[in-house]
Amino acid sequence: SIRVRFAPSPTGNLHVGGARTALFNYLFARSKGGKFVLRIEDTDLERSTKESEDALLRDLSWLGLDWDEGPGVGGNYGPYRQSERNALYKHYADKLLQTGHVYRCFCSNEELEKMKEIAKLKQLPPVYTGKWASATEMEVQRELEKGTPYTYRFRVPKSGSLKINDLIRGEVSWNFDTLGDFVIMRSNGQPVYNFCVTVDDATMAISHVIRAEEHLPNALRQALIYEALGFPMPRFAHVSLILAPDRSKLSKRHGATSVGQFKNMGFLPQAMVNYLALLGWGDGTENEFFTLDQLVDKFTIERVNKSGAVFDSAKLRWMNGQHLRSLQSEKLTQLIGERWKSTGIIMEAGGSFIEEAVQLLKDGIDLITDADSALLSLLSYPLYSTLTSPEGKHVLEDKLSEVAASLLNAYDSGELSSALEESNVGWQKWVKSFGKSLKRKGKSLFMPLRVLLTGKLHGPDMGACLLLVYKAGRCGVVAAQSG
Ligand code: GLU
Repeated sequence: SIRVRFAPSPTGNLHVGGARTALFNYLFARSKGGKFVLRIEDTDLERSTKESEDALLRDLSWLGLDWDEGPGVGGNYGPYRQSERNALYKHYADKLLQTGHVYRCFCSNEELEKMKEIAKLKQLPPVYTGKWASATEMEVQRELEKGTPYTYRFRVPKSGSLKINDLIRGEVSWNFDTLGDFVIMRSNGQPVYNFCVTVDDATMAISHVIRAEEHLPNALRQALIYEALGFPMPRFAHVSLILAPDRSKLSKRHGATSVGQFKNMGFLPQAMVNYLALLGWGDGTENEFFTLDQLVDKFTIERVNKSGAVFDSAKLRWMNGQHLRSLQSEKLTQLIGERWKSTGIIMEAGGSFIEEAVQLLKDGIDLITDADSALLSLLSYPLYSTLTSPEGKHVLEDKLSEVAASLLNAYDSGELSSALEESNVGWQKWVKSFGKSLKRKGKSLFMPLRVLLTGKLHGPDMGACLLLVYKAGRCGVVAAQSG
């Protein structure tokens, strides 16, 4: 049966690379009716923290990538934290000792250093050449009696090679001659990372290991351990790096890179998931808009690209706008309304103000947070301030001051508000007669009007905006000032 795992180390935030690895595992499992396992790789006790683990779980849940087994869920293959699996590592290390795949190495650090130096002088690879690979039972017994500390070393074939058929990268092979016998358990009994991963994947019956390209070199040691343990080898799929626009490795200096940061910036999980899927995958058509369910439907690991994918935050933003506008309007109204209230932009709103405002503004925003400035600028429409704005000045210099003067009149006399009182029809009528009196129509009327009334050259339907602003005054919308 298909079983995959996402195995983060709880030493920091879930970054976009990790999230994409989790997503591909999730999609693979869901598209094949398999299981998606979450395993916490907290063997590095100094760097692992509970906060980081909690945040990882929270971010994965936020993305909608629910796991079938793992922390908080349980399962038949637990425990799901490496720090709770030490007995298992010891058990399998001893088993390999019994079968001769592993031997005890009593070399001191000084001896090992010396071996390395000699290898360097002879220009040989730094492989283990100590005597313990071939020590007799008696020599070993003597050291054990003396209490000399020892590590467990894995016996690597002296020649030959190993080949894996990676589902993304194709055939990858390694020669053994430069590998050397490697340690799987330190002298303090602490198992080494590659050993833990292999024991875990094997005993958790993982069928496919889908992970970042940077782990490809580990597959050699892991495959050797697999063979020695006698477990069936999983299929490997190593996903390429996510690159910055300059094609260097994406890192903090390129801006937001963690899922939590994007969440706080107002991105939707649906958009995140959609965008992450497109980093190295596509369904082969022009279509780029996918929900999580659609991705499950379309995903195949064969379509994952083996070259690096460039992270384009502008595209992610655009994609967020697509998802935002595809939300049901009640849902969008609720999301934006809650935000306006929680940020204090709106203290109170009666009637259908929020709903109407959202409908009017949604086409001009990509992020929920964009709705803040969109509303603030709408509510600060009244014309006096715009007359002094750069655009307003521009209009005045353009000898359009006659429009401004007449508009001020209409504003002060209450003519404009009584027109708005009659809703859109009133506004239409007013604009018409206003234009007539100035002998203007079309662009030469609406351009200066828009600039004078809204302070902007472009925006949503002007009549609708003004009605909404007018209504805000009438139905008790109390807005915070925009600084
Ligand atoms: N714990 C490793 C990481 O966070 C993952 C190892 C693996 O997937 O094999 O990079």
